Amino acid sequence: MNILVIEDEYRLAEALTESLKKEGYQADAACDGNAGLDLALSGRYDVIILDLMLPGMDGYQVLKHLRKEKVRSATIILSAKSELDDKIAGLDCGADDYLTKPFQMKELFARIRAVTRRQGEICEDILSFGGLSLNIRTFVLSSQATSHTLTLGAKEFQLLEYLMRNPRQVISRSQITEKIWGYDSEVEYNNVDVYISFLRKKIRHTKACVEIKAVRGVGYCLQEAGGAL
Ligand code: CA
Repeated sequence: MNILVIEDEYRLAEALTESLKKEGYQADAACDGNAGLDLALSGRYDVIILDLMLPGMDGYQVLKHLRKEKVRSATIILSAKSELDDKIAGLDCGADDYLTKPFQMKELFARIRAVTRRQGEICEDILSFGGLSLNIRTFVLSSQATSHTLTLGAKEFQLLEYLMRNPRQVISRSQITEKIWGYDSEVEYNNVDVYISFLRKKIRHTKACVEIKAVRGVGYCLQEAGGAL
C-alpha cells in the first residue's frame, strides 16, 4: 500500500515515513502543499496523510483540488488545529478522517487501517471498461460480449487494475513501476513491457474491444480498441 505524507515539519515527515515503512507500507513525503499535490495527483497513493498549515497551498486547498480531480485516495488530516470548526472544514473538504497533533503513532496506524478497510468495502468487486470486466477479489478477467474468462497472476492483476482505474490516460512506465513494484524498486522498465505483453494476450483472448496502446517513449494507455488517443 502506498502512502503519501504531506507535512512541512521535516523531522515529523521523516519520522512518519520511517514508521510507516517499518509497518510495511511504502511511504513518500512532500514538504509543501504544491509538491504534495503534484505527487498526489499521480493517483498512486492509497492513503494521504495531510497537514493543514503548509507553506504555499494549504491542506484544505490541496484536498479540494484532489477531490475536484477525482483523486480518491483516502485522506487523513493530521493537524495541530484542534478546533471543532477546523475538523468540520477538513471533513467537508473531503477528508476521510481527522487526527490532531500531538498524536500516537499507533492511533494513526489504526486510522489508516480503518479508512482503507472502509474504502475496500465501498469499492465494487468488479471494475469495467469497454466491455472488459475485472473482478478485484478473484482476479478473474472476463468479457461482457463473450463468455471467455481467465484468471490473472498477481502482478498482471495489479497492473490491469491500475490501468482500468485510469482509463484513456497515458500512464508512464515509471508510474507503473512505482505503483506495482514500489518506489525504491530496481525493477527495469523492461519488466513493465513484459507484463503489458502478457496482459495484451489475455485481453485479446477475452475478445473484449479494449487495447493497451503503447505511447512511444512514455508508457501505456488503456483505451477502446482502435480509439484515437
Ligand atoms: Ca505544518
